[in-house]
Amino acid sequence: MVDKDAIRSTVGDMTLPDSGWARAICPLCVESGWDGTNQNLSYNVDSSYFYCHRCHAAGYLDSGRQRLPAVVRVKAAPVAVEPPRLPPTIFALDGSTRSAPFVSYLLGRGVSWEAIQGACLGGVDLGFYQDHLIVPVVDQGYRYQGFVARNIKVKDYRYPKGMDRVLSMFNAPRLLDPAPVLIVEGVFDALPWWPHAVACLGKPVPKQLAIIAAARQKIFLDPENISSQRGGNSVIVALDHDASHESWAAAEQLKLMGVDAHFLQLPMGHDPGTAPPHIIRDALERLR
Ligand SMILES: [Zn+2]
Repeated sequence: MVDKDAIRSTVGDMTLPDSGWARAICPLCVESGWDGTNQNLSYNVDSSYFYCHRCHAAGYLDSGRQRLPAVVRVKAAPVAVEPPRLPPTIFALDGSTRSAPFVSYLLGRGVSWEAIQGACLGGVDLGFYQDHLIVPVVDQGYRYQGFVARNIKVKDYRYPKGMDRVLSMFNAPRLLDPAPVLIVEGVFDALPWWPHAVACLGKPVPKQLAIIAAARQKIFLDPENISSQRGGNSVIVALDHDASHESWAAAEQLKLMGVDAHFLQLPMGHDPGTAPPHIIRDALERLR
């Protein structure tokens, strides 16, 4: 028979974390002569369930499974969420010598000057992000969220710590433009199609699809756009060729959320950054 009074006097003095699970030195282990310092006893404040990971004593402290009144639940301090800072040595890309290697890399990947300036691309030539092109990411309201860094000499992407990649999308403000939007995976799939493409920074996740749908509905229902036939509601999902079925599935999900969604199958081995441009241009044109 487990000595519940010993457990009760131990947990009665404890404050509990917000999770509802607390840890303590097991009084039963101590009674049996153990003199370690591991907090082997787990106690759940909501159910009054206890379990010792060492002696395996277990049970409910209160028959009615009520919470012990003596126990105080402590709310965990909220964690301040601040977007990661841009590298301190970043500079804006322009016609300078310093910018030249970054600009020629971008032009080589089909990124226009209009995109370089519109997307506020930057470069870093010393420190942790040396040789990295910096692609800032903002939300629909142009609030800064973080950045994607791509090395221009070797294939290396860096995402700064603290960036919410699930909710962030490159060029998200475009979701609020009535013109058809291309939904792609990476920033280099989107940049050659500036300003038409929004990048999910990977395959789109359900939360991103919900954000896309909400934005398209908002612009679709705007009285200024309502007279136009399709304005604001069209998207084309164009993930890399190896994710064609995921493009299709994402488009189907967007349709269920009220969006005029289409998917574009790219030729074998291609992504939107390398596919023959007319394929994407024609798809966008058809929806205008
Ligand atoms: Zn024990």
